[in-house]
Amino acid sequence: MTKSTVLTGATVKCSEHYINGQWVPAKGVDPTPVYDSNTNAVIGEAPSGTTEEANRAVAAAKAAQPSWAALEPSKRAQYLRAIAKGLEQAQDEMAASLAMEVGSIVALNNGPQTTAPIFSFNTAADIAEQYEDRTRVDHSWVIREPIGVVAAITAWNFPLHLATVKTAYALAAGNTIVLKPSEIAPLTAVLLAKIVNDAGLPSGVFNVVFGKGSEVGEALVQHPDTRMITFTGSTRAGRRIGEVAAGQVKKVALELGGKSPLVVAESANIVDAITFGMNDLMVNNGQRCDALTRFVVPRESLERAEQAAAAFVEKLIVGPSSDRATDIGPMASKQQQESIREYIITGEDEGAKLVVGGPEVPDVGEEYRQGYFIRPTVFSEVTPQMTIAQEEIFGPVVVIQPYDTIDEAIEIANNTIYGLHASVWAGSDEEAMQLANYIESGMVTINNGSGNMMAPFGGYKQSGLGREYGTYGFEEFLEIKTMHLANNS
Ligand code: NAD
Repeated sequence: MTKSTVLTGATVKCSEHYINGQWVPAKGVDPTPVYDSNTNAVIGEAPSGTTEEANRAVAAAKAAQPSWAALEPSKRAQYLRAIAKGLEQAQDEMAASLAMEVGSIVALNNGPQTTAPIFSFNTAADIAEQYEDRTRVDHSWVIREPIGVVAAITAWNFPLHLATVKTAYALAAGNTIVLKPSEIAPLTAVLLAKIVNDAGLPSGVFNVVFGKGSEVGEALVQHPDTRMITFTGSTRAGRRIGEVAAGQVKKVALELGGKSPLVVAESANIVDAITFGMNDLMVNNGQRCDALTRFVVPRESLERAEQAAAAFVEKLIVGPSSDRATDIGPMASKQQQESIREYIITGEDEGAKLVVGGPEVPDVGEEYRQGYFIRPTVFSEVTPQMTIAQEEIFGPVVVIQPYDTIDEAIEIANNTIYGLHASVWAGSDEEAMQLANYIESGMVTINNGSGNMMAPFGGYKQSGLGREYGTYGFEEFLEIKTMHLANNS
């Protein structure tokens, strides 16, 4: 653990960056406080890094990259598996931190929030070992090489997963990395750096600089020696990163926002479809880029859809994230809570029908009065022009949109700047897949299908560029070099 890190339960106070295999005291003046989403109490802090510190980390990563790339893939894989082991051992500590800094509930913290990172490191290790990095095309060889120094900039909703899915695949492919975690939820990155350090990676291969997007993030994107930016966050920040990177024709992989539709065909069981959508939406308290947030249903089933959604919400327990009975914990930040409440008020003002929920802060007990809680909310009779039909709310709020013909359903589903995920429900998988062909999104779940961390993850349109997970994700971190031989060879 870093010299200045104090662990009390899940409280982490960090005043150092992890650069070139060492904990380096931060130079920035005021550290950034981290809050418990349940109580608004300060539970830790992380440095507010500077451009100089970002530059130092890039220099370390650049110096380390050639020898890391030259290692046998099986040797790199050994390091990655050691990190996976460290993550396994730290699962409880990570879960406790996530419950506070993100507000996610026990089932998620003991599940995907902490198991996906282990999976990513083990899978990236397997792929590194098995990957065929050269293929023949007639008289030419096509060779895949690491890109160089990768900067990873991540969001707060799945802070450990986002940091690890980028780190694991970038390192497996022979790149070195500088990670800038979200300033809202940086604490698991402190623990991750400790694990990487314990795994004995060569100095400079993995670096963490804490701080704000406007300072450390910008510095990493602008640095001429970062050869690729892998980013997860808002479309607003993604656009800015794309603009800056374009100045140097630098590669970017962007995982951005979403407004994902659940399209229910007439042949589907409406209650099953709505229940599936509600379950999906509520994962991580609605704070997921790929959450299903618009239910597009046949007009004749509208009332049953509303009833099914309302019945689902009425059974939900909103409460502290550490209580096993809780279904919906607090939002991650005060700002996030305010923003969601404002969207709910806007929905009412624009004339949507409020089925259940509303902007009032739910009462979850005296101890949690300052927590960032939100009432799960369902709107119906929402038209495509309404703000709540178009903008990403990023909370437990869903809009139901009725349609009269299946062509109109597809038009409504595609009427968004986003294209990350969709779900299509019909009487058979074949019919649902047929409809899915018309949906503009990077991922479509067919009926009660489930996610797959070996298959590509990413979006169409303003939901992003590039893909994560599995071999597709690994290849994002590789350059392609073609070597031409004489054409009779
Ligand atoms: P955000 O864009 O505010 O911040 C994300 C990260 O970018 C943070 O680390 C931040 O410090 C940094 N940043 C901000 N401005 C920057 C700039 N100009 N240059 C460089 N870095 C900058 O997003 P957030 O509020 O942390 O996360 C919520 C958003 O993330 C939502 O829109 C959500 O849909 C999206 N998200 C997408 C995925 C996906 O895989 N598609 C996954 C999770 C979250």
